[in-house]
Amino acid sequence: EIVLSQIKKRFGDLQAVKTLSFTVKQGEFVSLLGPSGCGKTTLLRMLAGIETPDSGEIAFGDTVIFSSEKNIMMPPQKRNIGMVFQDFALWPHMTVFENVAYSLRARKQKKQLQEKVMEALRSVQLEPLWERYPHQLSGGQQQRVAFARAIVNKPGIILLDEPLSALDATLRDDMRLLLQRLVKRMGMTAIYVTHDQSEAMAMSDRIVVMTKGEVIQMDTPEMIYHYPVNETVARFVGKGS
Ligand code: ATP
Repeated sequence: EIVLSQIKKRFGDLQAVKTLSFTVKQGEFVSLLGPSGCGKTTLLRMLAGIETPDSGEIAFGDTVIFSSEKNIMMPPQKRNIGMVFQDFALWPHMTVFENVAYSLRARKQKKQLQEKVMEALRSVQLEPLWERYPHQLSGGQQQRVAFARAIVNKPGIILLDEPLSALDATLRDDMRLLLQRLVKRMGMTAIYVTHDQSEAMAMSDRIVVMTKGEVIQMDTPEMIYHYPVNETVARFVGKGS
């Protein structure tokens, strides 16, 4: 479970995130949907610990990972999260194996490390390509390495920032299925940033619709589609007015 309470973030004059509160249940797949600049990535970065909120509190289950009041800011590597970015962010000078092994949290025995990395690669069907370098892989294969790297520590939470947007349409459908299956099989709680409404509708248990740093509606895809709270949401999920 992820609980955000009264989270705010400002960049200079811009209030990028305004008093935001919501809860994501254990094992839930939740999409953050909204136009460019509404604060989706900023929110994800605050969950990951690479951006610090100005105020509010974030808890993962019983553990408070950020609190302005209690002065708590847990470092990213202790948060038990995996993260996948839009641009894959692989190390070009490292092989597939090394890229995945790099993020293994604790130092492990060589054999144990090898097993864990290969298990992660197997779960994205990339085991045979372990010795290749990123430039020797297709875009979809690179993205699967990024997934393997995000799950190798078996995190409870996976944060996905438009992970499919660099891929072409056919590949995107395949990757969407692979990702959905992986998240469910591992029982991870997933937060998925996208500005593609059909992707959010197809993948999510619930959707958070945001504009200008605020949540306008949080509900199941069906409820959001049939009962949008206002015209902005309606337009955004393709219903027009
Ligand atoms: P997109 O869909 O385009 O990625 P987004 O919803 O993820 O957009 P954010 O990246 O969270 O939006 O940005 C929210 C606002 O905060 C934007 O106006 C952005 O320019 C601004 N912003 C984000 N990071 C910074 C920063 N480090 N310094 C200053 N402004 C920032």
